[in-house]
Amino acid sequence: MKNIFGEPDKPYTRSSGAPNYAQSIVDAIHEPSMVVDYNLTVVSANHSYYEAFKAGNELVEGKRIYEIIDHQWDFPAFKTLLEVLLPEKQIVKDYEVTHEFKHIGTHTFLIHASQLKVEKGQEGLILISFKDITERMEFEEKENYHLRSFQNILKQAPAAMCTLRGPDHVFELVNEQYLQLVGKEDIVGKSVRKALPEVSNQGFIEVLDNVYRTGKPYVGNEVPLKMDILGKGSKVYYVDFVYQPTWDKEGKVDGIFAHAVDMTEKVLARKKIEESEHKYQELIHSSPSLIATFQGEDYVIEIANDAILEAWGRDSDVIGKPLLSAIPELIEQGFEEMLEGVYKTGNPYKAYERPVQLLRGGKLETVYFNFIYYPQRDVHGNIVGIVDVATEVTPQALLNKQIKESESHFRQMADLMPNKVSNTDAEGNFIYFNQNWLDYTGLSSEDLKQKGWAKFIHPEEKRNFEKQWQKSLNSGRSFEMELRCLDKNGRYNWHLNRTEAVKDEAGQIKMWIGTNTEIQRLKEEEKQKEDFLKMVSHELKTPVTSIKGYVQLLLTQLKMTEESKKYSFPLISSLERVDQQIVRLTRLIAEMLDLSRIEENKLELQKQKFSINELVTETVQDMSYTNTQHKIEVYHDFSCSVFADKDRIGQVLINFITNAIKYSPDSQNVEIRIQKADNHQVSVSIKDWGIGIDKKSHKNIFKRFYRIGGKSEETYSGFGIGLYLANEIIQRHKGAIKVKSKKGAGSEFSFTLAVA
Ligand code: ADP
Repeated sequence: MKNIFGEPDKPYTRSSGAPNYAQSIVDAIHEPSMVVDYNLTVVSANHSYYEAFKAGNELVEGKRIYEIIDHQWDFPAFKTLLEVLLPEKQIVKDYEVTHEFKHIGTHTFLIHASQLKVEKGQEGLILISFKDITERMEFEEKENYHLRSFQNILKQAPAAMCTLRGPDHVFELVNEQYLQLVGKEDIVGKSVRKALPEVSNQGFIEVLDNVYRTGKPYVGNEVPLKMDILGKGSKVYYVDFVYQPTWDKEGKVDGIFAHAVDMTEKVLARKKIEESEHKYQELIHSSPSLIATFQGEDYVIEIANDAILEAWGRDSDVIGKPLLSAIPELIEQGFEEMLEGVYKTGNPYKAYERPVQLLRGGKLETVYFNFIYYPQRDVHGNIVGIVDVATEVTPQALLNKQIKESESHFRQMADLMPNKVSNTDAEGNFIYFNQNWLDYTGLSSEDLKQKGWAKFIHPEEKRNFEKQWQKSLNSGRSFEMELRCLDKNGRYNWHLNRTEAVKDEAGQIKMWIGTNTEIQRLKEEEKQKEDFLKMVSHELKTPVTSIKGYVQLLLTQLKMTEESKKYSFPLISSLERVDQQIVRLTRLIAEMLDLSRIEENKLELQKQKFSINELVTETVQDMSYTNTQHKIEVYHDFSCSVFADKDRIGQVLINFITNAIKYSPDSQNVEIRIQKADNHQVSVSIKDWGIGIDKKSHKNIFKRFYRIGGKSEETYSGFGIGLYLANEIIQRHKGAIKVKSKKGAGSEFSFTLAVA
């Protein structure tokens, strides 16, 4: 048999004195220890050993080590130590063994085994000491567990965290978020200055140094941090962070725990909100509109732009005060009710040219506003305030007031007028009827506006009126016509209607004014006059004809007898004058009869084809007999025949020539021209150099009984029906009559007829 060192087995003998020696060694050792011989038989064990393993020495000493205390060391790891490692190295230190021991349970020991140097000839011994590290292991295990949990926390925490060790702030533990935040990868083991060179000049190192030196934690809020992100360039973050010092067992700062939360998104979002709020504020304050907001049921002024403050005559001190205490003069003016209405119902309130009395510069002024109150709601839709958007419109409102006043004056005036006055817009829609219209028709203003007054016009004039009105609307020209209008009692009365356009400075039609003047009495009188004339002319016709017959008879008789020459009295020439006067009288009677024929629509035309040139020549010849002082010249620039009533056209010629002579007291020349006219027509014009006709009378001279007023009326005899008849005759021939004349510069009357 050989011992563990390969020497021949030489059992230990107590006689050698070794136990005492061994005992003294083990007793000197504080830890549980024993001395065994090379055969691994226990020579001695110390008191600590017996205590540690809860056994008495009878179970230990003298026994092989594997057998002691129920074979407690009989397991492979221990055997390896003693039988493999020790013989090889003579000394084995800190050999860690964990085993479940009987009596004491599982323990971990650090075993120290060494060959004891002995003198030659003595048996070899081995010292084995056991250091129980069970508790330390457990503690370490616990510590590791805490460290792991801390690391886990670090990893899983939503914040960026790291621990820095030592005065150079070397990264020790770093979580993923931290790496992401700083945009780096391998920083553990490096100092902050080295790992993150870009933060060195941003003041962070100084803060870390300070925390490390003073042991006082540091808290930073939304601190901008510019980092170079791997592969992405530099980025600015905003971080909330805490630097918390960590202490060693002695209470000295040995590191820093850093905890940072990336607030970039929040800060940027807030900055955006701040920016948009700024813009919104800018918008409100730079707006020329008057803008204010009132919060809560007290309408506390929250926003009021410069424009509204100026309009209120207040300064920014009013902001934050309830509206009605900031501007108390509003209370009496119904503003409280208005605001309350909007606040309670949520319906906006609009006002147009609302007068408001405001104390501006110490003076109570009346100013006018267009404004709107909108309800202001929170995200849940609850009304929390009111927005006021307003424009000051004082000048415009005052002008409108003036216009309204002058319009009301005009209406009052129009209502007092005996005429019927109506008013339409530029398109012809009725906007006003005066009181006279309402009284006449018995209708309300609204009814009349809707119906218009054309439906009251007599059917005989209605179409013509509507045609004229339409023409005027298209051309913008005024017109005048006589028409009958139905009154509320169902009677038609004659009116003279005048419709005139009212134009602005640019000539644009703004409205139409229509006046209807009742001329029923005039019409009736005219009728009486006509009836009378008709009767007179009828009565005169027979005696005048018979007088003319007798005068003619006498003249023929006288001219035949030589006897007559004996009379000293110029009998023949006197009779000839009587005859001339009778011709005039006959014509007058004929004209008067024609007048009533026209009235009764009984003027008939006997048309035939004849030469107009011959008719003119004959008429002039006839007239020259009786008008010897006048020189009537005829120019036949054109010769043609016409298909017309020869007598009637002759009548027109006579009328024109008679007038040319009558109204030219200081001129003896009359010029007649027959000319070719447009549209296959012939024109006959009679020109004189007499008193002329002023422009404004031109349109009237063709009216019945119209005679130009003033001296001439008395100077020149006449009825004012010649031109009326001439016009009627030519119109019935579908021809046209024209006058060219100026007062004092002679006249030229002409008519046209179709060439046959
Ligand atoms: P009267 O019988 O009055 O001549 P007329 O109908 O023939 O009636 O003429 C109407 C009016 O027109 C006249 O009263 C006269 O004032 C004016 N008048 C007509 N012809 C001429 C003319 N050639 N020169 C100037 N005035 C004229």
